[in-house]
Amino acid sequence: MHTVTGTREPADYVAGRFDDAGDRRQANRAVGVSAVGLAVTGLVELGIAVLTGSVGLLGDALHNLSDVSTSLVVFLGFRVSRRTPSERYSYGLERAEDLAGLGVALVVWASAVFAGWESAHKLLAGSGTSHVGAGIAAAALGIVGNQLVARYKLRVGRRIQSATLVSDAKHSWLDALSSAGALAGLVAVAAGQRWGDPVAGLAVTLFICHVGWEVTTDIGHRLLDGVDPGVLTAAEHAAATVPGVRHAHARARWTGRTLRIEIEAWVDPALPIAATDQLGGRVIEAVHEAVAEARAVTVIPRAMPEPASPATS
Ligand SMILES: [Zn+2]
Repeated sequence: MHTVTGTREPADYVAGRFDDAGDRRQANRAVGVSAVGLAVTGLVELGIAVLTGSVGLLGDALHNLSDVSTSLVVFLGFRVSRRTPSERYSYGLERAEDLAGLGVALVVWASAVFAGWESAHKLLAGSGTSHVGAGIAAAALGIVGNQLVARYKLRVGRRIQSATLVSDAKHSWLDALSSAGALAGLVAVAAGQRWGDPVAGLAVTLFICHVGWEVTTDIGHRLLDGVDPGVLTAAEHAAATVPGVRHAHARARWTGRTLRIEIEAWVDPALPIAATDQLGGRVIEAVHEAVAEARAVTVIPRAMPEPASPATS
């Protein structure tokens, strides 16, 4: 049996109702501006962390810089995934993003280990923190920076109805809490409690572990071809409602940011090939209609076994 494939090219996206080019530009700008803001915040924090010896600040700086590297990978992945398929890479280079994600996960876990190690070491050694005022200012910058980024992403995200951007905004809002933890530790140090900073450092380390866990499970899910089960039921239901399709079975996987859906459609075995082809086209339409994020839909027609005919004499 031959297969029918329908792909939505980026041009269809621009023209279609699924994703508007202007929205995409706005989302990209929001992610870009936020990344620059967070990078500046993280670098200032890192410099002050080295000056003061504050491990709470060190952890918060590493956390912010890890977040920036995640955004950077999304950006690079977006660029690389636009490469057209070649003879050797017939699906394009979309999985480059997942590959880079593995690198990001590694960096995040390494910074968690580093921040945790430094905090535990400082706590046990009972070493002090210098220039506490500068440290407090840097932690406050961390709070303000993350809050500004959170508000900005939330505003743009709501305007263009981007769930990713809104959840990203919530992440930045939580990150302001991490900076507040570093701040609390330094305030405790200013009040004469040496342990305040290393304890804050350990708390911030937990935040970094949380980011590491999220990045790792997300990448694992994609590399193992995990997909939201709702996508499969929606696709199967849409395919089965096309007249002429007697039964449908769906499989789906992401390659980078492309959701590929494969539909096995059982049809009347007597159907001529041209009619089967047309039917496949209608199934593709229906699946695109039902699953907005689907980029490539392939239909494999199968001959429906005829029910055993009653014995004739
Ligand atoms: Zn974060």
